[in-house]
Amino acid sequence: MAILRNRNSDLDSRERLTREVNRLADKKIDSIEQAYRDLLEAIGENPERQGLTKTPARAARALEFLTQGYRQSVAEIVNDAIYDSDASEIILVKDIELYSMCEHHLLPFIGRAHVAYIPNGKVIGLSKMARMVDVFARRLQIQENLTTQVADALMDVLSPEGVAVVIEAKHLCMMMRGVEKQNSIMKTSCLLGCFKDSATTRSEFLSLLGK
Ligand SMILES: [Zn+2]
Repeated sequence: MAILRNRNSDLDSRERLTREVNRLADKKIDSIEQAYRDLLEAIGENPERQGLTKTPARAARALEFLTQGYRQSVAEIVNDAIYDSDASEIILVKDIELYSMCEHHLLPFIGRAHVAYIPNGKVIGLSKMARMVDVFARRLQIQENLTTQVADALMDVLSPEGVAVVIEAKHLCMMMRGVEKQNSIMKTSCLLGCFKDSATTRSEFLSLLGK
């Protein structure tokens, strides 16, 4: 536990506590480790060979981290970081790094999220917008649903005039296997409220994005 605390020393104490809450029960970690041992055997590997002895344990902890979104909620992330504001222009957080796992192949997809809203009396801390993306990205996902879930969540917590989320990502299931399209980027968007209804707002958003 001490190592975990050190590594996360940049987080405040509440977030550190959250990290610990987000851990899986030991019994679940054990069964994930066993599943990884079975998997290694099934592909013809020897889980007892030197390089692999600790792999099931490491892989189980990696999977725990990558799926911690299941054990988090937007409410807990947002917490008290919502403030009254008269701002009425587009607030955009661009290029939020995104790492998720495709639910069809259990392979990563990696990219960027751009999240915007127009406030209706309330604003949220910018770092919280990035953390909201993580809550949904750290689950098994498809990019389309991830995009919608982030937009809906922001709509829920702020009741803003509108929300726009654009995600651009490369999917390792496309790059490493099957069609092996190395350079294709998938783009998805979800526009709600005024971003959907007003062509002017939408084009202002797109020009802020630089598209
Ligand atoms: Zn896939």
